[in-house]
Amino acid sequence: MMNNIYKITDKLEKEHSLSINEYEYLITEYSLKAAEYISPKALKAKREIYADDIYVRGLIEISNICKNDCLYCGIRASNTNCDRYRLNKADILSCCDEGYGLGLRTFVMQGGEDMYFDDDTMCDIIKSIKSKYPDCAVTLSLGEKSRESYQKMYDAGADRYLLRHETADREHYSKLHPQAMSYDGRMECLRALKEIGYQTGCGFMVGSPYQTVKALAQDLKFIEEFKPDMCGVGPFIPHNDTRFRDYPAGSVELTCYLLAIIRLIHPRVLLPATTALATLSPGGRQKAVLSGANVVMPNLSPTAVRDKYLLYNNKASRGTESAQCIKELKEQMADIGAVVVTHRGDVIK
Ligand code: SAH
Repeated sequence: MMNNIYKITDKLEKEHSLSINEYEYLITEYSLKAAEYISPKALKAKREIYADDIYVRGLIEISNICKNDCLYCGIRASNTNCDRYRLNKADILSCCDEGYGLGLRTFVMQGGEDMYFDDDTMCDIIKSIKSKYPDCAVTLSLGEKSRESYQKMYDAGADRYLLRHETADREHYSKLHPQAMSYDGRMECLRALKEIGYQTGCGFMVGSPYQTVKALAQDLKFIEEFKPDMCGVGPFIPHNDTRFRDYPAGSVELTCYLLAIIRLIHPRVLLPATTALATLSPGGRQKAVLSGANVVMPNLSPTAVRDKYLLYNNKASRGTESAQCIKELKEQMADIGAVVVTHRGDVIK
């Protein structure tokens, strides 16, 4: 059995492509041994493009107000226990100010689908950030919008957009989302973002309710074909105020194994070691980096709201998850031979 795993992994390393069945096999036969075989290969592939560099992004959670109702998410519209907040332009600019001082050169604005942030408001904020910090990249993660809106924000200066596809299995998608949200709509958004010219990120949760091995294999195939510039993959973690409260969290080990597979599919992809991983395991981020991750996104939101952007239980936002602790983050990375760098950290094409 291990022989087959080795063979398929070697094939992936060489050809950067597998069949759905082969992806399924890698996932079904996951073991510590399989992970120990693939991780060094993934790390090597990463180092050939990005050396020991780790890119950092300051994550600004601009609003937890959301019109959507994703079944897994703690800030879903129907969660009446969620203490809602929204940052204004001045708040956001002062986060950037602080982040710039800390050496951050990418600002990620993430939030629920909050209608307050319409095109004019967003474009104004983006332009202000770009004119104040011309050496910085702006990444948006604001959910689904029309192609026109994406285009306007791109024209205003936004560089990158993160929109996890969540699952590439249509049936699975419908079990994680209300009827009003559609798999096709989300995929259409991703295609539009890429066509417009954004560095585009997709991604999915590991261990979300009803996820099958087949669904994960489809995620990998989708990533292979879509060729994202970035890919966010983190374990599902239940949130108490959702109907998935009693479902178990996803596995840290499987998440890192999948990161390694994705690194071999696309050696150039920007792959964050996610907050969800760090939340589940204190060594999660280091483990991810040793499996081929090359991005970390410490939290730069104002401390007063940090506990309110609760996508899942116990979401980490302190210690090395906090931008203010970038020194500790650098040390944590140095311990495993990785170097946190201070530049925009664009994808190397
Ligand atoms: N509104 C934006 C941002 C969503 S939050 C959008 O639609 O893209 C960012 C990501 O957090 C989501 O894409 C989802 O994959 C992840 N997330 C949400 N709830 C989660 C949970 N319970 N466990 C783990 N990750 C979760």
